[in-house]
Amino acid sequence: MNDDLLAVRAQTHRFIDDFVRPAGDDWEEAGQVPRDVLRKMGDIGFFGLRIPEDLGGVGYGPLASTVFAEALGSSTYSGFAATVLVHTDMASPHLLHAGNSEQITRFLPRIISGDLITAIAITEADAGSDVAGMRTAAKPDGDGWRLNGSKMFITNGVHGNLIFVAARTNPEASGHQGITMFILEPDMHGFSVGRKLDKHGWRSSDTAELVFDDVWVPSENILGEVDRGFYAIMENFQNERLVLAALAIGESQEALDLTYEHTQNRKAFGATLFDKQTIRHRLAMLQGRVDALRTFAYDTAWRLEQGQDCVKQVSELKALAGELVNDVMYTCQQFHGGMGFMTETPIERMYRDARIGAIGGGATEVMLEEVAKRSYR
Ligand SMILES: Cc1cc2nc3c(=O)[nH]c(=O)nc-3n(C[C@H](O)[C@H](O)[C@H](O)COP(=O)(O)OP(=O)(O)OC[C@H]3O[C@@H](n4cnc5c(N)ncnc54)[C@H](O)[C@@H]3O)c2cc1C
Repeated sequence: MNDDLLAVRAQTHRFIDDFVRPAGDDWEEAGQVPRDVLRKMGDIGFFGLRIPEDLGGVGYGPLASTVFAEALGSSTYSGFAATVLVHTDMASPHLLHAGNSEQITRFLPRIISGDLITAIAITEADAGSDVAGMRTAAKPDGDGWRLNGSKMFITNGVHGNLIFVAARTNPEASGHQGITMFILEPDMHGFSVGRKLDKHGWRSSDTAELVFDDVWVPSENILGEVDRGFYAIMENFQNERLVLAALAIGESQEALDLTYEHTQNRKAFGATLFDKQTIRHRLAMLQGRVDALRTFAYDTAWRLEQGQDCVKQVSELKALAGELVNDVMYTCQQFHGGMGFMTETPIERMYRDARIGAIGGGATEVMLEEVAKRSYR
């Protein structure tokens, strides 16, 4: 921690208190975060945290993303957090890392301001964990490419204004070869939102099925090198997984704090729930696991900031965090009793929101494969 990171944390908590907690229920109902709230975040500078200073951002690294995501996790509205983190840490980094100077000049200022909200479209109905199985394809056509196919579960897919789409551009190449990233603007002819998807949790984030029906994408909208998109996706996964783990840690800590408060106030059998040793100990064990994982997360962020190759560590972190947040929510909801089953309590929403932690951005089993590959020969 340093003063800059502490300031990011404090500012994020202030924003959550001022704007998220009072309106979060309405956003859950509406299935989206209002654009003026996102613009406000842009004005404050949250969307430029990872953008270099010479491009109009603040120029921080993975540690700042970790602080930011952990703080957002404390909001109890992880659909809001997902809307923001997909924009800042999962989608827009593709432009930053692979975009040419013309693309960066064209889009980046409006990404920083929140006028453009970004989405990343990789998953398909028949290809999720197995990214290389994607079938959406683009063929050269004049000074551009013809895009056909569909994408599934795309966060910010309904209301986002700039979508980075992965498509197969070399039908001869097998598996992870021959995939290219394209910058798609929603007014392109042939693009449509097939369905706005209804979800178990993350209800204030919008999630869509996207359809590409002969969409002509000009060559100037190719992002990075043709046929090399798979490697860009894998590289960006490291930051994405770090941030998802930090989000899970923030969610877990908030749930434990809420449950500590509840069990201290709630009386049963002549004492508070917290007076029961079994309850204290189960909360204490979870607190120990959260504290340990937080240290591991910041160590991982620091290593990424030094440019170290940490695929194994990031995968371990993502697997551990995705499982821990579910253990925490189960126990915290249990100790809230019947109230924890009511939609008026944050823990009920947090329990639902946590489920995706073990599935999205690399399911636990997929992460464990990455760890096993790098641990045992
Ligand atoms: C709310 C939400 C938002 C999302 N946002 C985006 C987005 O913005 N952009 C995007 O591109 N994608 C997004 N996704 C997709 C998400 O990353 C995928 O759902 C995830 O990668 C899992 O893929 P899948 O759903 O196809 O599951 P599958 O690949 O079908 O896997 C199903 C289950 O099988 C198990 N499994 C899979 N592979 C293995 C293996 N090798 N060994 C053992 N077990 C295995 C796991 O338990 C896994 O959960 C989102 C998903 C959700 C639910």
